[in-house]
Amino acid sequence: MPVTLPEVAILADQPIATWYKCGGRARRFARPSTIDQLRRCVEIDPGLRVLGEGANLLVADAGVEELVVRLDQGEFAALRIDQATATAHVGSGFDLMKLIHETHKAGLTGLENLGGIPASVGGAVTMNAGGAFGQIADFVHAVHGVTRGGEVVRLARNQIIFDYRHSDLGKLGAGMIITGAELKLKRAVGDTSAARAKLKEVMAYKKKTQPMGADSCGCAFKNPAILHDLRGIAVAGTRISAGMLIDKAGCKGLTVGGATVSTQHGNFLYASSPSCTATDLITLMRQVREKVKGMFDVTLQNEVVIWGDTL
Ligand SMILES: Cc1cc2nc3c(=O)[nH]c(=O)nc-3n(C[C@H](O)[C@H](O)[C@H](O)COP(=O)(O)OP(=O)(O)OC[C@H]3O[C@@H](n4cnc5c(N)ncnc54)[C@H](O)[C@@H]3O)c2cc1C
Repeated sequence: MPVTLPEVAILADQPIATWYKCGGRARRFARPSTIDQLRRCVEIDPGLRVLGEGANLLVADAGVEELVVRLDQGEFAALRIDQATATAHVGSGFDLMKLIHETHKAGLTGLENLGGIPASVGGAVTMNAGGAFGQIADFVHAVHGVTRGGEVVRLARNQIIFDYRHSDLGKLGAGMIITGAELKLKRAVGDTSAARAKLKEVMAYKKKTQPMGADSCGCAFKNPAILHDLRGIAVAGTRISAGMLIDKAGCKGLTVGGATVSTQHGNFLYASSPSCTATDLITLMRQVREKVKGMFDVTLQNEVVIWGDTL
């Protein structure tokens, strides 16, 4: 029997908040707070786009036609900790940094390895966020979601492929909308002071090596897997730092309009002026990619997700 799903407010012409603080708007925008409201959104537009915290997202200046949904309230912002299994059952809109603190308060450890990564849980899982100290896939026990057909699903860890800054969740069900995750953690031995100290260490490392205060989305490009020997730099088959290649290609400080390549970390492209546009950032990314290709014959792939344009 067909079920009538609950209505959800659809707002017209809304800004899409990203860490670049620039870019286009959403023609239609919704903030469902229940799974059924989300399913109603899928019914309205099966091609809808999901906005997390916008920490890895650049939206073309022309904006996007598809319905944009933000899952940051109600069921999607909930957290339940199961002490018996040391598992955090968390909504996809929950802030990752807040989750690290909440799990420590509950005597559970592990997530401190992801300190300083701005993300919603959904964004972190779909991108397999991580760094020098670990990645979120290390903790995923299961992922909950809604398919583009409106089906509610739970995928166990062994049904998901995680790779470097990537999961195949975007492909499953033609782009699964993550509604929550089960993260399996470790119970602290004694108290959580060692985990809190580790968190400080991870945060200090990030602050020292990356321009955390700039209007950026972190690394613009993925660290490439090298297919041929780069004399004195890398041997075939290894993954090397995109930032190092960008630096050696002489791109640090390169500017297009209001967008600049950081002089601290070559893989951080940021809005250096309030007049910066998404077009400035995309043009700068193209220039950087061309220079690296020209010097090393390595094609950089964007880590930042671009809506409404391609590199
Ligand atoms: C200062 C800074 C430092 C950073 N450092 C790191 C780092 O060390 N390591 C790292 O991995 N990343 C880093 N990043 C990038 C960013 O933090 C991660 O990619 C993060 O996972 C993005 O999460 P988000 O919620 O902001 O996703 P968004 O940027 O909002 O979205 C990114 C993609 O995920 C999709 N998405 C979001 N939520 C969902 C959902 N619920 N269901 C399905 N798809 C969804 C979006 O549609 C989009 O395709 C950094 C960013 C900044 C600004």
